Amino acid sequence: MKLDVLAIGAHPDDVELGMGGFLLHMKALGYTTGIVDLTRGEMGSRGTPEIRAKEAEAAGRLLGVSVRKNLDLGDGHLELNLANRHALAYALRELKPTFIVGPYFNDKHPDHAAAGAIMKAASYDARMAKLELGLGLPPHSCRMLLHYPCHIYVTPSLVVDITPYLEQKMAAVRAYKSQFGESNADYDSDYVHIGITDYILHIKSRCGHFGSLIGVSYGEGFFCQDPLRVHDPYYLLKGVLKN
Ligand SMILES: [Zn+2]
Repeated sequence: MKLDVLAIGAHPDDVELGMGGFLLHMKALGYTTGIVDLTRGEMGSRGTPEIRAKEAEAAGRLLGVSVRKNLDLGDGHLELNLANRHALAYALRELKPTFIVGPYFNDKHPDHAAAGAIMKAASYDARMAKLELGLGLPPHSCRMLLHYPCHIYVTPSLVVDITPYLEQKMAAVRAYKSQFGESNADYDSDYVHIGITDYILHIKSRCGHFGSLIGVSYGEGFFCQDPLRVHDPYYLLKGVLKN
């Protein structure tokens, strides 16, 4: 297994919400993609871990990923510690991704913030030659780290046009029927999502906002902590020109 892109989420559904379009786009360009969820979402107000696992499998199929793993590191108390870093570092050595993309490390939800921090630390751990993580897997260096915002806005370093993939992304989100009903009528009458009752509308609106920043209908924004190294600045135009 050698992935081009690995998407990381704190809970099953984070990846679909934050970067489902990115994965669909990369797959369409011919890159191999995969997902690692750090927890089973067992603390979610709705559904069960078993239901979430089935939904995650269906959503992964809709996104066309080659592999989806769950590290089961504990929903609701995900934290940056050595055991969690090493669990993800092991997965990085196993899947050998070039790109890794995970939640923004200053997110409001503590699990999302922890997932972003674990990802940054694990990418270092995975490449340490003298760190033995089991089964003799060789060190692995990820070449690029990006972060997607979840419950907080962050000015993106780059925006990917996902206009052709919006409906496929939303289908993958809706695969989590236990989390996102088909309409507001499916929600318990006293259940209110954080800040908005129609989460599907919320997600589409956010994609619309990111799209507006680059002059397209829908986009997904990503934050890159490090400056991007560019050899030929003219190459940046290729993203604009598509060729
Ligand atoms: Zn989440």
